Amino acid sequence: MVAERSSTLPSITVVGAGMAGSEAALAAARLGVRVRLYEMRPVRMTPAHHSGDFAELVCSNSFGGEGESNAKGLLQAEMLAAGGVVMHSAHACRVPAGGALAVDREAFSRRVTETVRDHPLIEVHNEELSCVPEGIVVLATGPLTADALAADLRERLGTEFLGFYDAAAPVVDIDSIDMSVAFRKGRYGQAADYLNLPFSRERYDRFFELLASARSHTGHDWENLEFFEGCMPIEELARRGYDTPRFGPLKPVGLEHPESGERFFAVAQLRQEDAHGRMWSLVGFQTGLKWGDQKEVVRSIPGLEEAEVVRYGVMHRNTYLNAPRLLEPSLRFRDHPGWFTAGVLAGTEGYLESSATGWLAGTNAARRALGQEPLVPPEESMLGGLVRFLSGANPDGFQPMNANWGLVPSTPKRRGEGKKERRGAMYRRGLAAFEAWLAAQAEPEAAAGAPAG
Ligand SMILES: Cc1cc2nc3c(=O)[nH]c(=O)nc-3n(C[C@H](O)[C@H](O)[C@H](O)COP(=O)(O)OP(=O)(O)OC[C@H]3O[C@@H](n4cnc5c(N)ncnc54)[C@H](O)[C@@H]3O)c2cc1C
Repeated sequence: MVAERSSTLPSITVVGAGMAGSEAALAAARLGVRVRLYEMRPVRMTPAHHSGDFAELVCSNSFGGEGESNAKGLLQAEMLAAGGVVMHSAHACRVPAGGALAVDREAFSRRVTETVRDHPLIEVHNEELSCVPEGIVVLATGPLTADALAADLRERLGTEFLGFYDAAAPVVDIDSIDMSVAFRKGRYGQAADYLNLPFSRERYDRFFELLASARSHTGHDWENLEFFEGCMPIEELARRGYDTPRFGPLKPVGLEHPESGERFFAVAQLRQEDAHGRMWSLVGFQTGLKWGDQKEVVRSIPGLEEAEVVRYGVMHRNTYLNAPRLLEPSLRFRDHPGWFTAGVLAGTEGYLESSATGWLAGTNAARRALGQEPLVPPEESMLGGLVRFLSGANPDGFQPMNANWGLVPSTPKRRGEGKKERRGAMYRRGLAAFEAWLAAQAEPEAAAGAPAG
């Protein structure tokens, strides 16, 4: 009966049943659209997955910190409000983990798999897709997208739009940079777009000592990479000698102080990452250092003693698109209006971010199938900030991004207000805006008799 009725419904295809694809399939099916969901596991495995279950957590079992002062906490709350299968399953399978939302990984994946498989409008195919299928599609094949599909994407989009590994530098929040130390200047009189952090010899010695002794993540098979010379990890440069970093990314040449004319022993540069100027990345600092050690090294740089790292540097195998060149904030491809994408492939990082973008891409793919316009959440919400970043970030050297406070406009600073209170205000404002936006979407659809979840 259901099969007969559903064959006349509009349909979409979702490729990949990981964090993003599971969420996308369910979001679309709940809007009354038929979904063909393709997942290659267990027929073909990736180097990181171990099971045939959907939404497998390939490494840590945590979705990040909860609560009002936490950027991930806001995104979690938004996905709970949206009815996301990943967040609801995570809450049902949670294990004690202090202030973080951690889960029993097997119970969690089983629950997501059952919820998705049990939906009458979702048809699961355990099959690898080697090219983008016809019709409306959500591409959610993740960091370990199978080779044939990756090759097809490269051919259709152009080789420069698909990255194969993450070589990211740490990104810091603007509010945590000591502006009495930093100065704006471009090298050799170019536009003053960079923030420069000058080292004396003594400060460089301390920085170098920390960098040379910092510990890296130990390599796994899928992490063994050959680095291009121009993309060498900063710790590898330090291994080559005391002067190598300061003849490379820390080169002081052309960066005398604009007012005093003072010359420096070395200079670190920060480049703006987002349209609002809230996030700044350390130029040439791609790194695979452990996060604790990385934080120490970053904080040894003059002007970054109190730095809040909103995204740590990483170096690992990762398939992802150059989102700012390709995507609209609705997660639709600008040049392929029937294609949507989500998760790591779309330029996000993290389980939670993957599922949240999956929900939006699935919703918008279904809306297209139903002849409706795509949606974009409000900019104060974490999901709204994240998708605006993906479509509007600097496309040169684009690196995937996770949820952080730099993605949303800050609230006006009130006298005596500490960081925690300010974050709390941003959390409440973001969640209220997101819930109001959800309610506004639900009203006309309910009035038109759209099927509920
Ligand atoms: C080794 C590793 C460790 C990570 N650890 C963490 C961590 O600890 N915490 C964290 O938050 N994030 C982590 N990440 C980053 C990222 O958040 C996760 O990879 C997350 O699962 C991404 O969700 P996704 O839906 O984009 O991809 P996935 O969850 O990987 O889902 C993609 C799915 O697509 C399938 N697929 C691929 N190609 C095809 C094809 N051609 N046809 C059909 N199916 C296909 C895959 O089998 C997979 O099931 C890690 C990434 C990697 C690679």
